[in-house]
Amino acid sequence: MIRPILHFPDKRLREAGKPVTAFDEALRTLVDDMAETMYAAPGVGLAAPQIGVALRLFIVDINTGDDQPSDLRVFANPEIVETHGKIRWEEGCLSFPDIREEVDRAERILVRAHDVSGTPYELEAEGLLAIAIQHEHDHLDGVLMIDHLSMLRRRLVNRAMNRRAVAAE
Ligand code: ZN
Repeated sequence: MIRPILHFPDKRLREAGKPVTAFDEALRTLVDDMAETMYAAPGVGLAAPQIGVALRLFIVDINTGDDQPSDLRVFANPEIVETHGKIRWEEGCLSFPDIREEVDRAERILVRAHDVSGTPYELEAEGLLAIAIQHEHDHLDGVLMIDHLSMLRRRLVNRAMNRRAVAAE
């Protein structure tokens, strides 16, 4: 089921997620819904808080090409345990439609998480995958793309999003 995606400045995007404690059927359904919602958007990542579910959970799939097999990855209770290097990347966010901004991120990361069954795993990532993981991980702490911008860019994005919110009313 496709769930509505919250847009900035919705306050729920600022709430920190709670740890996932039950790796059950309900979690599986939630992850299925998140995947359907992300692919329909379309996007390369979606965090549970973006659909109003305050859990430490996100999904990423950077294989967006029609000729690429899907590479859906589930991150429950993720922890970025190592970061290396620095890279500037133009990012988008499903909670900031039509906005793309350059953000500084670590170039390579080591992340620990649990999959949808609760099995722990470790993943080394670089490039777009590393960027997407860092971006989605921020959502679990109520941190948004806009927080990484300069004061000026922040003001411009704020204004654009507020104008959009008013137009949608
Ligand atoms: Zn986002």
